[in-house]
Amino acid sequence: MILTITMNPSVDISYPLNKFVINDINRVSEVKKTAGGKGLNVTRGIKYSGIPVLASGIIGGTTGEYIQKQLDKDNINYNFYITQHESRNCIAILHEGNQTEILESGPVLDSYDVSVFLEHYQNLLSQAQVITISGSLPQGFPVDFYTQLIEKANKYQIPVLLDSSGKMLLETLVSKNKPFLIKPNKDELQQIIQMDIDPNDVTSLVKAINHPLLNDIAFIIISLGKNGAFARCHHNYYQVSIPKINVVNPVGSGDVTLSGLAVSIHENETVEVMLKRAMTMGMLNAMESQTGFVNMGNYDKYYQQVKVTKI
Ligand code: ADP
Repeated sequence: MILTITMNPSVDISYPLNKFVINDINRVSEVKKTAGGKGLNVTRGIKYSGIPVLASGIIGGTTGEYIQKQLDKDNINYNFYITQHESRNCIAILHEGNQTEILESGPVLDSYDVSVFLEHYQNLLSQAQVITISGSLPQGFPVDFYTQLIEKANKYQIPVLLDSSGKMLLETLVSKNKPFLIKPNKDELQQIIQMDIDPNDVTSLVKAINHPLLNDIAFIIISLGKNGAFARCHHNYYQVSIPKINVVNPVGSGDVTLSGLAVSIHENETVEVMLKRAMTMGMLNAMESQTGFVNMGNYDKYYQQVKVTKI
């Protein structure tokens, strides 16, 4: 089973409007509410791939109950730590081809929640063969919290796939408790290594992926949007090119890319298959309007068109 961790899930609300009028009333008829958070997109991607998955993290209040109901509807197994604090809403106003977002920071938690969640997580480890950790931490959690989760998983040799950014990612890179795999996009990696990356220049990509901060990470995938990806697995480098597709909504593509990587590791697939699977999932998400959704009926068609070159 794959265990997915989403520490700050949300109810994602989208309000489509023909015109967004400031300082006046905007009426919406087609409200869409989904269980959101990067880790829940990963969870759905794994579920669509037909592999057993368990979602965990922290939820609370009526928003938390709504998240559980949505996961029930999708037949997704979950085991969250439930707090007294209300989970957050994230609102996207879709107007005139633009997307204006209002994102709540979420509940402020404390050291009690940290220790109870660590215990909760420890109890789930015996069921997990692979773990994914995605997104940001709740307010009040220490910035090295993911390092603590990785340390516990590493004790049982459970590979951890980490998709985070900024200080939370940096903490794990400088710690002795490394994730097995990271999947930064170009901007996230640039921010960490303080270096510009040219996605069309292999020399630039090799230089970035060999940055000393990334030395002890077994598997690194730099996802490059429409330019595919560049990866290093131990001492081998892989350039991955993808076909041109009709992009509808690329939000969440990185998350379902991670779900493809997790599924491949769970299924002991080769690096080439893993990269092809991950890219195909990312593309399938970008072709849909719903974040974190993929139409698996198109999987084979696009999988055939992904090219992995070992360099
Ligand atoms: P993130 O969503 O984390 O920013 P990317 O934008 O790099 O990550 O997208 C992850 C993967 O999704 C890409 O490697 C690619 O396979 C697919 N993808 C994303 N955007 C596009 C796009 N515009 N065209 C084709 N594929 C895309």
